Amino acid sequence: MYADIIVDISREKLDKTFEYNIPKELEKNIHPGVRVDITFGARKLTGYVISIKDNPSIEASKIKDILGICPASVSTDSEMIELAYFIHEEFGGSINAALKTVIPVSKSVKHVERKTIVLNIKNDEALDELLLKYKKRAKAKFRLLEALVTDGDLSYEEVTKKLCVASATIKAMETEGVISLVSDTVYRNPIKDTDRGEYNITLNDAQNKVYEDILGHMKKNEYSQHLIYGITGSGKTEVYIKLIDEVIKEGKQAIVLIPEIALTFQTVMRFRRKFKDRVSIINSRLSAGERYDQFERAKKGDIDIMIGPRSALFTPFKNLSLIIIDEEHENSYKSETVPKYSTKEVAAFRMKQRNGTLVLGSATPSVDSFYNCVQNKCYLHKLFKRAKESVLPKVSVVDMRKELENGNKSMFSDELDRLIKDRLEKHEQIMLFLNRRGYAGFISCRKCGHVPKCPHCDVSLSFHKSPNGNTLNCHYCGYSIPEYRLCPECGSKYIGIFGTGTQKVEEELHKRYPSARVLRMDADTTSGKNGHEEVLVPFANHEADILVGTQMIVKGHDFPLVTLVGVIAADTSLYASDYRAAERTFELLTQAAGRAGRGEVLGDVVIQTYTPDNYSIESAARQDYDSFYNTEINYRNLMHYPPVVHMVVLLITSTDEKKVADAADYIKEKTYALNSYTKDIKIIGPANASIFKLNDMYRKVIYMKAQDKEDLVKIKNELETEFLSGRFCEIYKSVNVSFDFDPYNGV
Ligand code: ADP
Ligand code: ZN
Ligand code: ZN
Repeated sequence: MYADIIVDISREKLDKTFEYNIPKELEKNIHPGVRVDITFGARKLTGYVISIKDNPSIEASKIKDILGICPASVSTDSEMIELAYFIHEEFGGSINAALKTVIPVSKSVKHVERKTIVLNIKNDEALDELLLKYKKRAKAKFRLLEALVTDGDLSYEEVTKKLCVASATIKAMETEGVISLVSDTVYRNPIKDTDRGEYNITLNDAQNKVYEDILGHMKKNEYSQHLIYGITGSGKTEVYIKLIDEVIKEGKQAIVLIPEIALTFQTVMRFRRKFKDRVSIINSRLSAGERYDQFERAKKGDIDIMIGPRSALFTPFKNLSLIIIDEEHENSYKSETVPKYSTKEVAAFRMKQRNGTLVLGSATPSVDSFYNCVQNKCYLHKLFKRAKESVLPKVSVVDMRKELENGNKSMFSDELDRLIKDRLEKHEQIMLFLNRRGYAGFISCRKCGHVPKCPHCDVSLSFHKSPNGNTLNCHYCGYSIPEYRLCPECGSKYIGIFGTGTQKVEEELHKRYPSARVLRMDADTTSGKNGHEEVLVPFANHEADILVGTQMIVKGHDFPLVTLVGVIAADTSLYASDYRAAERTFELLTQAAGRAGRGEVLGDVVIQTYTPDNYSIESAARQDYDSFYNTEINYRNLMHYPPVVHMVVLLITSTDEKKVADAADYIKEKTYALNSYTKDIKIIGPANASIFKLNDMYRKVIYMKAQDKEDLVKIKNELETEFLSGRFCEIYKSVNVSFDFDPYNGV
């Protein structure tokens, strides 16, 4: 047996491995992640085992022996390498890709970190006393404190430049505990933060029961997984905070995963209020170097809590014992690039490594997490009352076919129209949700039927209205051409624009309700530097009456003045080409409905649809998760879809259309041959992917299903060997193959 070993974990050399022989007596103790002694040239070094294999790639006689296993206890590095190996094994892709996912590359680039100065003293008397003290003896400190009291948070630059306060002075005040420096890699304050309150929440009975239950398991020091199924506003976050508090008291650390879109300043501040500067944040705006620095801080023990999206999962805490995944149903927890790992499964593995606790939370649990509870793999906890008194909204479903029969051809049903007028009169806010962006779904010639398509992708172009000239865009690759007035095929001037998009809704609103102030939020309006905040802040400050948007607007934001939520067309997500379409529709509608009536006033939700009888729409309208789940799991059972069975999809791509077809057939033959000993696998395909051509790549898919995931992993391993060193890699050099286990998106 031979081991691939990395000698230097100083990141940049991560992909440089060396082969060593595993002496017989060490064999059973060597596995990925183990630290070993080796001779390297003339030196004696330690290295980490990355993977193990039967055959060496160089002459066996030239390979040296591993000298022994390091006596030191398991290090964080060992754990992270073991984790990378797990990802490589369970989700496919090279070990290198997995290592790079888990261990960020160190970059020597110096980055400028922008910082904000925040006042820590909340007590007015203490403040006055301090101001007086500074006024006498420390003029610079006085200046800064005074500015903080009157103006609120200040940027570091402002303070040093405009107020002329030296950085040493700032540092001194930070040491005194008067101020804190909040790194600007933390979300900037979207809504002026006037709330400087201390943390003072006492859990209510329902929350306390959940907390005590989970704590009981945590104290056993063995792995356990929990799902908190609690409606929005039921106080899940407060339960997380209490659990984390407990963990920290024991000298351990915690990771909180929150989808980037819900990682708002308010959310972060709730954690900071309680845990002060022991909390840090990771988000996608960090450069690789900055992320590396954050990880180093965690390693050194400067912080105890890391909050962030998916990648925060790899924070190398020494004594990690709790991982929380909020909004666990979110698609962003699945990586869509190789390695295509499932964050929940990787988090579960990390907590198994450490005998820790994994807590998932959602108002609309994913079918697979709920299934795990039903299968007794996960403890279920429920929170069904909003922590702050507020009434649940009234939901109505409108059949748009009937509207048409009654002569209403517009995109707004009579009921929605009536309610919009009512809210505008009352100066309350409205959110209109649409499942698609752009002005229109697609355009076509009404005479010859010509539909403009992207030359690089197998999709039709979408119409985008813009002051600089309207365009036709590809949503997949960004290809864009100016709009045309005459059909390029037949010269006709009757070009029709079909479907509705956010822009069209916005336009229609201006026409119908000229006095209403409308904001639009979609990928087009949020691509700027400040992203979502540019739209959300003015809306939160009531600078607009109506917010129109895509699914982004239904996630995680709290607008107490919103008392009407309208879903323009609920059906659009139903026709997506994957088995999770109904789940996604249910989740989006339920989350959208949850946006109405967050304050004291009763809210209304209007769901417009052409298929009012569809169970995902019907059960979302009743806010009835159980009924949705039961129907859905029956369907998955019947159709053999995850989570009832496991599935892997092979995506085979190439710029050469014939090559990709041949390669797909080759893989299919090979898979049938391999399958002769694991007959339990069902193989479907090859077929064209639902978008056959994307970015000039041709794409084929092969699906495999099995009851036992390990059977699929076995086949994957055999195939990967074939791709790396078998006949396949000789014939199909230019063909790329990737695996996606229990995929989220149809391909
Ligand atoms: P969730 O995470 O389930 O959406 P939150 O934890 O955000 O719910 O709670 C919703 C609101 O209720 C927040 O403003 C929160 O501070 C408040 N809240 C939660 N629990 C309590 C409690 N026990 N006492 C007072 N306020 C609470
Ligand atoms: Zn035409
Ligand atoms: Zn394209």
